[in-house]
Amino acid sequence: MALAYGWTADPDPCRCRVCGWDLGEPGWDPSPTYIICSACSAEAGVDDLDERRAGRYLARWIGEGAAWGVPSEQPAEWSPSGHLAAAGIVVRRRDVR
Ligand SMILES: [Zn+2]
Repeated sequence: MALAYGWTADPDPCRCRVCGWDLGEPGWDPSPTYIICSACSAEAGVDDLDERRAGRYLARWIGEGAAWGVPSEQPAEWSPSGHLAAAGIVVRRRDVR
């Protein structure tokens, strides 16, 4: 199972707890805001309730190709590998299945 962003060493509260994308506001404040991540489509308070659920969501997103949530809104220079590397998420082969 992949280590979701919210459980890395020093997570930023304004970033998606699953993939680390900048949400522009906290996903939890301190209760969940139910904001949907533009990148991985995870919903704060639903898909990131705990480390296990967030890790499973992350692994499934990556396993299905890590497509941007709303394709028409995908930043021009965005790439899944660059995104995950910038978030400090290490993807190992065994994590994605
Ligand atoms: Zn996300």
